[in-house]
Amino acid sequence: MRHRRGIDLTGGNNDNLPPREPVFIVPERDHSATFADLPQWYLLGGKCARCGHVSLLDRWKLQGKFGKLKPIIPMEPLLRCVRCGNIEKNSFVLGRAKRD
Ligand SMILES: [Zn+2]
Repeated sequence: MRHRRGIDLTGGNNDNLPPREPVFIVPERDHSATFADLPQWYLLGGKCARCGHVSLLDRWKLQGKFGKLKPIIPMEPLLRCVRCGNIEKNSFVLGRAKRD
C-alpha cells in the first residue's frame, strides 16, 4: 500500500482495498447540495442516460457561472451528452481527484 500524505490508519497492512483510482460514483441524491458542499478534491462529471458516456465538467467554471450556492442536482436538465447529444435524464456523477 502506497503511503500518501497524512496518517495511514490502516498501518499499511490492508492490501485488500481496491486501488484508489478516480472511480465515478453516483452521489447520494441530495438535491440541496451545492458547489460549496462539494469537497475541493471532488471532480464533477456528467453521465449520459442513453449511451453511458461520462465526461468531466469544470466545476470551478460552473461555480463561477452559477454561484457556489447553486444546488447542483436540479441543474441536471442542463446536461447534454457530448457523444450522442442526448439531453434527457442525464445525471451528475462525482469522482475523487488523484492527489499525490
Ligand atoms: Zn450519450
